[in-house]
Amino acid sequence: MTDWKKLIADVPDFPKPGIVFKDITPLLADGPGFRKVIDAFSVAFGDSGVTQLAAIESRGFIFGAALAHHLGVGLTLVRKPGKLPRPVYSETYALEYGTDTVQMHSDALTVRDRVIIVDDVLATGGTAAATARLVEQIGAELVGFAFLMELSFLNGRDKLPAGVPIHSLYPLG
Ligand code: AMP
Repeated sequence: MTDWKKLIADVPDFPKPGIVFKDITPLLADGPGFRKVIDAFSVAFGDSGVTQLAAIESRGFIFGAALAHHLGVGLTLVRKPGKLPRPVYSETYALEYGTDTVQMHSDALTVRDRVIIVDDVLATGGTAAATARLVEQIGAELVGFAFLMELSFLNGRDKLPAGVPIHSLYPLG
């Protein structure tokens, strides 16, 4: 079987100069490779008592949905502003230029939920850190982060809450 890590394509200067975009579409197109990463996540978090996955728009939805199905737990969508139709909690975070916001339905989680945040790439950490604050606003317990890739040279994990396990299947650099 092909090593699933070889199924992630580096696309230089996309979407803008200087960024090496990690394209996961060849991995998604490979049935055994896609299954392997979901199996690896489920081994990492299978005994965490997780009840809900909070998946970040949009590629986090793909891994979150497959993993939620695999673990038999719920899926909560973390979306860009204006996409969720009912009342939301919002968190805004700084970008290199400007800010961005993530939202979650305010009734998406309860204080009894144990939550894992799921995304494809941990880069500067701003998105995942804002998502952690959303989980905190609702009062649910954050029990972990699951990333397919981590761009370690950007030190994104330093922005994430101390003491919460971070599982990156493919840490880079
Ligand atoms: P950040 O908030 O900087 O950690 O960025 C994380 C979000 O941006 C994730 O939802 C990723 O999908 C996306 N992202 C950041 N950098 C990359 C990259 N080099 N390739 C693909 N996606 C990226």
